[in-house]
Amino acid sequence: MVAVFTVLAAAVGVILGGFVSRAAYALPRGEYKQILFPKCPHCGRDLPAKYSIPVLGSVLSLRCPLCGEDQGGRALISEIVLGAAFALLFLVYGGTYLFFEYACLAAVLLLLSLIDLDIHEILHSLLLVILVLGVMTFVFSFFSFSLSGTVWWEHLVGAFVISLPLFFVMMFTGGIGGGDVKLMFCLGLLLGYKLTLVTFLFGIVIAALVAVILRVFCGKGAKYQLALVPFLSLGAMIALLVGDKLIAALF
Ligand SMILES: [Zn+2]
Repeated sequence: MVAVFTVLAAAVGVILGGFVSRAAYALPRGEYKQILFPKCPHCGRDLPAKYSIPVLGSVLSLRCPLCGEDQGGRALISEIVLGAAFALLFLVYGGTYLFFEYACLAAVLLLLSLIDLDIHEILHSLLLVILVLGVMTFVFSFFSFSLSGTVWWEHLVGAFVISLPLFFVMMFTGGIGGGDVKLMFCLGLLLGYKLTLVTFLFGIVIAALVAVILRVFCGKGAKYQLALVPFLSLGAMIALLVGDKLIAALF
C-alpha cells in the first residue's frame, strides 16, 4: 500500500513540477495565463496544447517548435525534482499533516530556486507562504500540538539562529542578499533551530563546492553570480529527509 501511495505522491509532484516551472517564468512577469497555457520563454509565442501535458510536454519543449531555441530541459528537471521530493517526503512522513506541509514547502522552494536562478530575485509573496506555514507550526507547538516533536522556543530560536548572523554579514560586507536572510528567517521558524542548522550547513557546503567547480571550469576571470536559494532549498530537503537521523547519530 505504501508503494502505491508513494507512486501517487511522485505523480502529483511531477504534475505540479510542470506548473512550478511555468510559474517561475510567469509570476515575476505577471503573465499568469502562461501557467496553464505554456509559452516559449525565448520567442514568447504560445505553444500547442499538447505541451501542457506533464513529462510529454516537457520532452517536446526541450527545443521550441516555433523558434528552435534550446530550453535546457528546465521543465523536465523541475518535474523530476518535485516528483522525487514528494515521493521521498512521503516515505519519511507518510500521509500525515507534516507530509502536506513539507510537500507545499518543497514546491515553493523549487519555485523560489528557479526564479533566483533566472533573475536573481526572491518574491515576497512566495516567502509569505513559508512564513504562514512557519507561524502555524509555531502556534501549534506553542499550544503543545507539536506534530514534529519540537517545542515553541526551538522554532523561535530557529528563526534567528542563521538569519541574524546573515543579517550582519549583509550589513557589513554586502556579500549576501536580503532575500536569503528573509528566507532563512521563514525556514528557521518552520523547521526549528536544529533542522535550520542542518539546512544551512549543507546549503553552504554544497554552494561552496559548486563555486569551486565553477571556478575551475570557467576560469578565474569568469563572471558569475551564484544564486544561493537553490542550495539553501537543497539543504532544507536534506534536513527534512535525514536531519533528525543525522542529529541523533552525531549528538
Ligand atoms: Zn520559441
